[in-house]
Amino acid sequence: MKNFVYVLCLFVIFTSCKNEEELKALSNNRETVIDSSEIKTNEFAIVIHGGAGTILRENMSAEAEEAYTLKLEEAIRVGYEILKSGGSSLDAVEKTINVLEDSPLFNAGKGAVFTNAETNELDASIMDGKTLNAGSSAGTRTVKNPINLARVVMENSPHVMLAGHGADIFAQEQGLEIVDSTYFYTVDRLKSLEHVKDYEAKKKGNNKTAFYDSTIKNSKYGTVGCAALDKNGNLAAGTSTGGMTNKRWGRVGDAPIIGAGTYANNNTCAVSSTGWGEFFIRAMVAYDISALMDYKGMSLEAAAKEVIQKKVPDLGGDGGIIAVDKNGNMVMEFNTSGMYRATMNDKGELLIGIYND
Ligand code: ASP
Repeated sequence: MKNFVYVLCLFVIFTSCKNEEELKALSNNRETVIDSSEIKTNEFAIVIHGGAGTILRENMSAEAEEAYTLKLEEAIRVGYEILKSGGSSLDAVEKTINVLEDSPLFNAGKGAVFTNAETNELDASIMDGKTLNAGSSAGTRTVKNPINLARVVMENSPHVMLAGHGADIFAQEQGLEIVDSTYFYTVDRLKSLEHVKDYEAKKKGNNKTAFYDSTIKNSKYGTVGCAALDKNGNLAAGTSTGGMTNKRWGRVGDAPIIGAGTYANNNTCAVSSTGWGEFFIRAMVAYDISALMDYKGMSLEAAAKEVIQKKVPDLGGDGGIIAVDKNGNMVMEFNTSGMYRATMNDKGELLIGIYND
């Protein structure tokens, strides 16, 4: 019996040592496989998009490619400098988007697409990840930079969303730059409208089908958006667009819808969307990515893939997002053949992309 107890003790000591070793090995192992989303990748970071869609290398001239690349770089550098000097992510987002809104290359501000009535109706939104405050405007016609209006709605009004004529009046009262509606006119966008109208006429006026037709859907690239993390750990995101060519009946897309087109939360990430708005609203794309991180503990990359590569296409929609998480990890996920996009990290490294390669 004595011998048996002795052997038993030795066995226990041996197995517990083994367990300790195993545990040690396991914990060492854990260090190496730790989820990268938990590591601070960048002290500050900025990511932008200039719209997703059927953007193919073979359809792009060298001049156009250069023009887009230069404008994306100019815009992101504005935000980068703000973040580098300790400025807020909200300022970086707003000022970066202003550069894109002022360029006729993009479907936002100058260069916005035309409605069926040959007007331009602009949508925008912005969100502060620190406070979860948000502001947005829909269907404005005279505000030069709709993202600035979204910001003053957030900061200077008791509301989150203003629409139509009232939003234009509020912008004027806030001292924002007001322009004549002809400011938004560009020849290329008018041609797109004519093309879409001709196409629709040939389809014998089935409005609903025509609006969802890919030829029509693809004649509206260039929604713009930005997401940023600042040195204080604050996240922000914003989106600005003219919507979809030939829209009518006061159609509003996802861009000004908080949770669909834009979302930011310091606990998770900041997201800006671009794509087929009707589907992005139904899939609550930007908030869904944040929620997957929040409730399921997913990394930003995995959450973005889940929503953009599964949820949205399963519904029948397409598009993409750009996002940055609280640790400075950035993603640019899209299920179309291209998305104008760029990132800059805290080391000043710049990445610009257009096509899906
Ligand atoms: N999401 C925008 C809208 O549906 C369009 C786009 O991003 O291309 O209004």
